Amino acid sequence: MKRIVLIIMDGLGDRPDKELQDKTALQAANRPNLNYLSSQGVTGLMSPVSFGIRAGSDTSHLSILGYNPHEYYTGRGPFEALGLGIDLKPGDVAFRANYASVKNNVIVDRRAGRIRNTEELSKELETEIDGVKFTVKSGVEHRAAVVMRGHGLSDKIADTDPHSINSPPLNAKPLSEEANFTANVINKFLERSRRILSNHPLNKNLISEGKLPANEIMLRGAGTMPALPSFKEKYGLNAACISGTPLIRGIAGLAGFDILNVDGMTGRIDTNYNNIILKAVSSLEKYDFILINFKGTDIAGHDKKPELKKQVIEKVDYVIAPLTKMLNDTLIVVTGDHSTPCSYGDHTGDPVPILFATDGIIKDNVNTFDELSVSIGYYKITSNDIMPLIMSYSDRSEKYGA
Ligand code: ZN
Ligand code: ZN
Repeated sequence: MKRIVLIIMDGLGDRPDKELQDKTALQAANRPNLNYLSSQGVTGLMSPVSFGIRAGSDTSHLSILGYNPHEYYTGRGPFEALGLGIDLKPGDVAFRANYASVKNNVIVDRRAGRIRNTEELSKELETEIDGVKFTVKSGVEHRAAVVMRGHGLSDKIADTDPHSINSPPLNAKPLSEEANFTANVINKFLERSRRILSNHPLNKNLISEGKLPANEIMLRGAGTMPALPSFKEKYGLNAACISGTPLIRGIAGLAGFDILNVDGMTGRIDTNYNNIILKAVSSLEKYDFILINFKGTDIAGHDKKPELKKQVIEKVDYVIAPLTKMLNDTLIVVTGDHSTPCSYGDHTGDPVPILFATDGIIKDNVNTFDELSVSIGYYKITSNDIMPLIMSYSDRSEKYGA
């Protein structure tokens, strides 16, 4: 049996880019170690979730780890909250939230002038009502997440965001009888929030400066945090996750992974790439399976910076050198969780390259790692196929039949 290192370069896949002479960032990057790994096993194209799906990092990581997102992805609320670093437990009900501006009882701006630094407001909205604890965390600009924890909660709650301006802010409506209590508690929360926000000095200042106040918090995308069967139960693997990205840490945590910390790991482009790989190598004494997520490739893709994306790939390539010497007892898998082409600036449904490298398995004649080179490789798969292949190539599969 072999140990496993799964490296996910977030948003790795790309399209030909004018800035890179019609190459993808991966094609343009100097990547001797990725190329070497691709020569030491099998490669192919992997479609996240399914062919042509524009997967999010959440749905894709769930699927890669063997959790069908159609079953376990319960709406954006819980995963947005995880992404903001809120510690969620199964049964919690989570919402995406917007700070908005209300004047004369109608919404005049759904984004409160794209207000920044709402942390102070969010902190004051946190409370406990009828035994239900409310956690509120600010996100980028006007965005936030609200999480309810308590007994008897339901996520069958309609959005309180009317999704248009010039209408009054809504109260919570239950979509089924079981949600009556939840809606009731939310309405008390909203009433309290409106009082606090309208009296808050930060908002009074904004109004006196002629700016839009953040005097309403609107909720949408209700979802209950699902309980995931543990990775250990599913695969018998002792697993750890190395990622600076709260969403990935949150998903891995739900699957029972140990979440490792690394000096200098930020989840941004400026993360300490080398420390991450050193931590993975040293942790293989204790764990059978290490999941690493490098977020920089996705960030550069969203920012439409192909040169930067290329540089991130080169940094990853440089630091993974020690892994190329461990193939005798380790299976190395490298892929992305979706494509984030720099020309598009968001996720697309294009497949991403994948490689499985370890000693003693078939080599498929692919010696370079990029979107096009691997298209003559062994596999055209979806993310659902990754864990079975990992189990097989690490000599851990159970026989199906006699
Ligand atoms: Zn992603
Ligand atoms: Zn992204």
